[in-house]
Amino acid sequence: MYRLIILFGLINATFAAKPIVVGTWVFSLGGTQSAWNDLKNGADGVDSLVSGCSYCEQGNCGLTVGFGGSPDESGETTLDALIYDGKTMDVGAVADLRRVKNAVGVAKHVLQHTKHSILAGDQATEFAKQMGFTEESLSTNVSTDMWETWRNGNCQPNYWKNVDPDPTQYCGPYTPLNRNNIRFHNIVSDSEIDIHLTHDTIGMVVIDNDDNIVAGTSTNGLRHKIAGRVGDSPIAGSGAYADNEVGGACATGDGDTMLRFVPSFLAVEEMRNGKTPKEAADEAIARISKHYPNFSGAVIAVNKNGEVGAACNYMVEFPYTVMTDDYSEPQILTVPCTNTPREFKGKYCAGNAK
Ligand code: ASP
Repeated sequence: MYRLIILFGLINATFAAKPIVVGTWVFSLGGTQSAWNDLKNGADGVDSLVSGCSYCEQGNCGLTVGFGGSPDESGETTLDALIYDGKTMDVGAVADLRRVKNAVGVAKHVLQHTKHSILAGDQATEFAKQMGFTEESLSTNVSTDMWETWRNGNCQPNYWKNVDPDPTQYCGPYTPLNRNNIRFHNIVSDSEIDIHLTHDTIGMVVIDNDDNIVAGTSTNGLRHKIAGRVGDSPIAGSGAYADNEVGGACATGDGDTMLRFVPSFLAVEEMRNGKTPKEAADEAIARISKHYPNFSGAVIAVNKNGEVGAACNYMVEFPYTVMTDDYSEPQILTVPCTNTPREFKGKYCAGNAK
């Protein structure tokens, strides 16, 4: 087991070290270790990141990443994953990938064996099979129970609006509401707050032994998402971004809101313009919270020197993991968040969605 050294209140991670592996949430500890082991055995940044995210996809990171994790409205568990290579500025990603466990591995094949950037849905599955991946169900008793509980609870919460029947009371199928009856609402309801607690992403940034910077993600996305929904995690610049000249960043949180602001790209651009990683992450989060103060999410930024910073919103704190030559095992750092909701204070520690 890991000996956890929790550095509460360490807002600015002042160390600078290369090579380095950084991962989102406490559950990334094993993935960070796995990526680090591969780095030390001579793997490059892409393979190390694939190793780290794959570790989570094997069922080691709770119920929001990998098989048996958060099902969509139809009861199926799907995956989004991304690799952004900061050396070549090339991308491989899969979105809404079905019936294949190792989504980040498939993303690597998109990166290395196609001239495309993102493959989606059943056709991404066909691609994965051509590349040698096994097609198999991603459902488990746990994910089936999650889905049945949600169905039996009148499909609450869900992500529909302005449809009939009233989605806050009933399951679909739905039809669009007549224009005159549409009620646009901008407040976060209680059910939306519940949703915040049931999704997370493994996001990683790796600087390898040759100073190449790679960033990436893997996630089931939002629990009970509408089938076909693609979040921020597989979107370049949103879920992750890297540029060898500057650094890398990755994001986790309410993807439908976050992807509108491409926060990983913004964090790297802020570092390009001279900001520290902490200042850059702060700016990426502030740009979103200015418009959506109740969005829940976090960004980690790493500059090319191996300095790290993170920022988060609408949670108590955001934990992330870091491994460098300075440590014998991955460390957990935490950063306090902006706009912590009063009802979360003292009872919600972010990062361990059940
Ligand atoms: N960003 C992910 C999504 O919206 C979920 C998360 O990281 O919490 O799909």
